[in-house]
Amino acid sequence: MLPIPPRPAAAERAAVIEELARAYPSLSLTLLGRSILGREIPLLKIGEGKTHLLYVGAHHGAEGMTAAFLLSFLSEFLSAHRAGRSVEGIDPGFLLSVRTLWIVPTLNPDGVELVERGLSSAGFLSERIRHMNGGSEDLSTWQANARGVDLNHNYDAGFRAYKGVEASLGIVGGGPTRYSGEYPESEPETAALARFVRSVPLSMILTLHTQGREIYFTSGGRSLSGQAAVAARFSAMTGYRVAAPEGAAAYGGLTDWAVGRMGIPSFTIECGEGKNPLPESAFASAWREIRPLLFRAPLYAAPPEKQKGDAGREYRTL
Ligand SMILES: [Zn+2]
Repeated sequence: MLPIPPRPAAAERAAVIEELARAYPSLSLTLLGRSILGREIPLLKIGEGKTHLLYVGAHHGAEGMTAAFLLSFLSEFLSAHRAGRSVEGIDPGFLLSVRTLWIVPTLNPDGVELVERGLSSAGFLSERIRHMNGGSEDLSTWQANARGVDLNHNYDAGFRAYKGVEASLGIVGGGPTRYSGEYPESEPETAALARFVRSVPLSMILTLHTQGREIYFTSGGRSLSGQAAVAARFSAMTGYRVAAPEGAAAYGGLTDWAVGRMGIPSFTIECGEGKNPLPESAFASAWREIRPLLFRAPLYAAPPEKQKGDAGREYRTL
């Protein structure tokens, strides 16, 4: 198995995904969509169960390590499955018969590439990005996509209210972080993910960010029935604090939209500790913390009350 770099760039992720797909035919690989710059956003699937979960990494450019967490999880899960071995108290074979796991390692491939490879990775948008970055070529903390939209503020949750918050922060257009875009789902990355979320009867979403060792699960201070208890279990598994989003973080995120508008129990996991982008040396301890959660979260996903007949079909056949 190829080693998985702690902060993989696009080519490294593609190589790992290709090798996983070759080694494990039970892994299906499809395309969620494409980024502004045309980069592929792979969607991986394992399992054939009726209860569906979605794990999403790297909404933010400087959080590319979350893709390494998800690929490490997948690699270890599939290897244990093949060996008939339990892991974290989970029998992978049984789990795959009762759960379907969808994984998007990197929702924002352009943002990650800007952080990992710099301005030259942005092609025809390089000049515009330099301008949005105040003339600087230092993109090491860039969080947005290649159009300067912060994808985790681009969902249809508190969008109008957030425009007021943006103004108070002095944000009037595209930039490295926190600009929500012209309208909800204006970006190809968020539009593709939202379309997927609407098409598959998801029972749970985990969205991985760095950093802070915290778990968020509310929308406007409210959550779905049972979510607080599940968050408490996740907190016990990881040692992470359950917290409520504050300030700008409380608007327009995937968890906010999924809980508040779609009725899907969703959890934002702020992995690890330090300053974004976390250095490669931060990988091992953060991985140790969230590993049990990635393996065990499917146990806490309740079967959907109503199955949509064709749900997910198009994503199996792309
Ligand atoms: Zn983030």
